[in-house]
Amino acid sequence: MSESRPPRFAVFGQPIAHSLSPRIHALFGAQCRIALDYRAIELSPADLAAGLARFHAEGLAGANVTLPLKELAAQACIELTPAARLSGAVNTLIRRAEGWCGDNTDGAGLVADLGRLGLRLAGARVLMLGAGGAARGVVPALFDAGVAELVVANRSAERALALAADLACCGPINPCRWDELASRGAFGLILNATSAARSGAALVLPPSAVGTAGTAYDLSYGAAAEPFLAWARAAGASTLADGLGMLVEQAAEAFQRWHGLRPPDTAAVLAQLREVAP
Ligand code: NDP
Repeated sequence: MSESRPPRFAVFGQPIAHSLSPRIHALFGAQCRIALDYRAIELSPADLAAGLARFHAEGLAGANVTLPLKELAAQACIELTPAARLSGAVNTLIRRAEGWCGDNTDGAGLVADLGRLGLRLAGARVLMLGAGGAARGVVPALFDAGVAELVVANRSAERALALAADLACCGPINPCRWDELASRGAFGLILNATSAARSGAALVLPPSAVGTAGTAYDLSYGAAAEPFLAWARAAGASTLADGLGMLVEQAAEAFQRWHGLRPPDTAAVLAQLREVAP
């Protein structure tokens, strides 16, 4: 009698050894009593297209994609969801008979985590720092959640302009030069979607950007989130959060795409992760 093996899933990236996704999906599987085998697999950008085809042929049931492969993965899919098409980046691969359908759950994950924090997005004026793949990925979901205006500031102004033009169909996006931020008033929510801290660079921001009841949210987590959150604390932000909750919630969205149900207790998984990634 042959033993049935659990369906296989993976997260692809480079580097990938640090990824928390295998741990998150194992915890979700335990919550939902679903057996699964989820592994972190390193793939270089040059190997991505061939790798995705090979893993599809070998029966991989689904996958996540992370840095630096998200944009390339969008090009390797046979089908894209509206969220992936609008952002031009894929973080979730859903198996189809002929290849992969690419989705992007980062935006839904961020909005779910902001909801956990009790933040009301309807009518909000939001500042986003950064115009890379993560920034693009979350814009559609922010407007779906009712954001009234999004100001985008990026180190290279052209990239903020391109984001505003490409995603204009989602809602009013105002690109802003970094040195103009002081004249833009206060925001109810500031999202740091830059990777500046990874290279040890400090963001120079005017304290006036933080509203009296303002929330500062860094999409990074751990040490990478500390400089921005320290700035926001000093500037008077009332709520501070890093992106670990978003990581859990975007994973829950992917889990739902693959297994047909959302893990019921993402807060418990977040609490368990805090013990290993404070
Ligand atoms: P990208 O490489 O696509 O974009 C990086 C962004 O950071 C660009 O806007 C870039 O500006 C900006 N930047 C880099 N260095 C500096 C600097 N020294 N000063 C100012 N701006 C800088 O990365 P992603 O968009 O994919 O990721 C951004 C962050 O979001 C990462 O830290 C990532 O870990 C995090 N993230 C978290 C997720 C979660 O689930 N919590 C999900 C996805 C991402 P420029 O255009 O000028 O180069």
